[in-house]
Amino acid sequence: MTRYLGLDVGGTSCKLAVVAAEGDRRGELVATAAIPTGPGDPADVLARLAAAAAELAAAAGPVAAAGIGLPGLFDEDSGRVVFLPNLPPAWTGREVAGPLAATLGVPVALLNDARAFTLAESRMGAAAGCPTVVCLTLGTGVGGGVVVDGRLRFGPHGRAGELGHQVIEVGGPPCGCGNRGCVEAFAAGAALCRLGGRDSPEAVFAAAAAGDERAAAAVRSVVGRLAVGIANLVTVLWPERVVVGGGVAAAGAGLFGPLRAAVAASAPLVDPDAYEIVPAALGPAAGAIGAALWAREGSR
Ligand SMILES: [Zn+2]
Repeated sequence: MTRYLGLDVGGTSCKLAVVAAEGDRRGELVATAAIPTGPGDPADVLARLAAAAAELAAAAGPVAAAGIGLPGLFDEDSGRVVFLPNLPPAWTGREVAGPLAATLGVPVALLNDARAFTLAESRMGAAAGCPTVVCLTLGTGVGGGVVVDGRLRFGPHGRAGELGHQVIEVGGPPCGCGNRGCVEAFAAGAALCRLGGRDSPEAVFAAAAAGDERAAAAVRSVVGRLAVGIANLVTVLWPERVVVGGGVAAAGAGLFGPLRAAVAASAPLVDPDAYEIVPAALGPAAGAIGAALWAREGSR
């Protein structure tokens, strides 16, 4: 099977994966690696990333193409960063695809990290085999993506699928995108911590489970708001599966039962047996796996 390399650039660490895929067969994960992103200049980070990529490709390749998942906006044509909210401003305008392509000697495609997560979970993870899939990542922000009839809805520069920026309350709290009342303004990790009066999502979920009323109310609030956003998507798309991942979801395994009930209540036109809401299955390597799959699919 042909092998592809995927890279996932994060605020704390960069993950790498080699995936083997052929025809319509489900891809196979061949190898993974990770390096710390570090506080250095983007040129240094990219040089270390290129070296790690070349090393992994030599060990687990050869690879036919590579993909890079970026946590923000990029220009597809120039291969340059437009804006990465969780990385230093020096990344803006930086060319990412070209230097890596030169090091590896293969084509390099860019995509948003949440779209990479979506592609990975829909092809090889919790929604493998499902034609229409909605994926959400709950972490620092709320990212996402949709696969419709087997195809990732990418849009110009990969900007389709910003599920966290659906407005669910007119005039609601301000969101990082400049709008108000988005799902992200209610359901991101920071909102949960603020409402729950704790330093981390894990601490809020633990306190809620131990009977702390403020923490329990924060979890109920996040579940309720998230359910409205998911119900909208379920009503519009009728996906077979909704995949929820990211750090906040991983911390709150107890999230899923109440979430299913709340989504069903908010989507009365959709048969509740027609879709499942499931936790992500691929773990921290999902973004890198998705970037590798995009190296293959994006160029077809
Ligand atoms: Zn927003």
